[in-house]
Amino acid sequence: MTWKNICDQYTEAEHQTALNFIENHVEHLVTVFYEHMAKEPESAEFFKDDIIQKRLIDTLRKWLLETFHVALNAEYDKSVKRQQKVGMVHARVGIPSWLIMRGVREIERKIFEILEKKTEQNNLHLCSYIVQIMGFSTEIMCRSYEANTEKNQENKHNYRLFSAMQDVAVHKDKQRGSLLDWENELMFKIFSGKLGFYHPLFSKSEFGLWFIHKASYAFSGSDQVQLIIDRIYKVDALTQQTMQILEKDQVLVLIQSIRELNREIQHLVDQLFQVAEYIESGNDSLTQLLNRRYLNTIVSREITFARQNQTPLSLLAFDADYFKTINDKFGHAAGDLALKFIAEALQRYSQGSDYAFRIGGEEFLLLLVDTELCRAMTIAEDIRNYIEHGLIRTTQGQQFSFTVSVGCVLYDGHPDYQRFLDAADHALYAAKNNGRNCIQVTKHLSSV
Ligand code: GH3
Ligand code: MG
Ligand code: MG
Repeated sequence: MTWKNICDQYTEAEHQTALNFIENHVEHLVTVFYEHMAKEPESAEFFKDDIIQKRLIDTLRKWLLETFHVALNAEYDKSVKRQQKVGMVHARVGIPSWLIMRGVREIERKIFEILEKKTEQNNLHLCSYIVQIMGFSTEIMCRSYEANTEKNQENKHNYRLFSAMQDVAVHKDKQRGSLLDWENELMFKIFSGKLGFYHPLFSKSEFGLWFIHKASYAFSGSDQVQLIIDRIYKVDALTQQTMQILEKDQVLVLIQSIRELNREIQHLVDQLFQVAEYIESGNDSLTQLLNRRYLNTIVSREITFARQNQTPLSLLAFDADYFKTINDKFGHAAGDLALKFIAEALQRYSQGSDYAFRIGGEEFLLLLVDTELCRAMTIAEDIRNYIEHGLIRTTQGQQFSFTVSVGCVLYDGHPDYQRFLDAADHALYAAKNNGRNCIQVTKHLSSV
């Protein structure tokens, strides 16, 4: 069923009457919608902000008018795209679709209430048209909402894995050592000839605990996890036997099996980390900064935090100036050194709690948590200045320096993270236009 099919079931006069009706009552309907939403505790949370109220009221007004214009201007595709976009924004902001449906139901109730008072004929047919169109339009919105929410959830899930994985990866080599230590100590106790010795179980060793508690969670879903855990417990059973058996020959057989199992475990752990490279690819290989992959997830999470805790949040956008010229004059490898230098500058002037991204070739973002505009500007200036005065030495012994332009924005409470990102971009663009090697600020996101 398409939008056009629905419209074709009604006469042009009905299309026009419905549009006139909506035009005449749009302000009233919009007010009803928001009054209702503000009353419900679950929805009030989303609508308490002034900017959101104003923006959403505008959006709703446009939505109503446009939805009923479609039958007359025949811009079906354009309208479908708009509904999809609205659904996408709702997904980004986290306004659930049941809430939108609740609001639409309220608008429909109001429409019927007004129409009931009118005495003209054929109202029923007109009502049917209005309900069909409102329903269809909402349906498109919800579909797009769901598709985008699913994508966001998947990204969030991957980001959780990515964070857990980074923590696990930090310990990988240490744990490999701990596995060997455990094995060597066992061997030492056996060969030093003391029978009836005690050795801690492998599952309680540092390696065993690390794998069972942390790594298995970080890699949950990988086939190797269960295989490794099974082997850890097999090693436990064999270790217990070695402590009880007094026959040296038998002990040697057991120790051989333990060693084989441990080699298998090491091999499986290596495999796990190889599989994990896919998820690890949240890091940019040249600069080791975060790449674009988890940008939305992270920014969206920090925005929610800032809104809930009333803490400031700033964003800096960087783009190297005339970078093509550097590549042309000194070669691509020299350009790469310059990119690493930018990454170093971002890390030098930010804190462990901030997020530094390389989001494109020579484009970077720095998300500064708990940071007011004033401090963000200082950091931006420090970084700009550090880069301007740095000297890059190429492997051929040449030297050059370069500059960056910076866009700076303070988060202003709008729940759509895309607006925040766009505002930083906007400021960066202004810095480029202002002659480069400078910082520009976007003060109000709503003006973007
Ligand atoms: P401006 O931003 O000041 O307007 O000029 P620009 O020369 O930097 O312009 P633009 O952003 O269009 O060019 C970016 C260049 O960065 C294009 C490409 O040659 C280079 N670049 C992108 N990624 C890499 C990379 O990974 N390594 C190197 N060496 N260069 C890269
Ligand atoms: Mg660029
Ligand atoms: Mg550039």
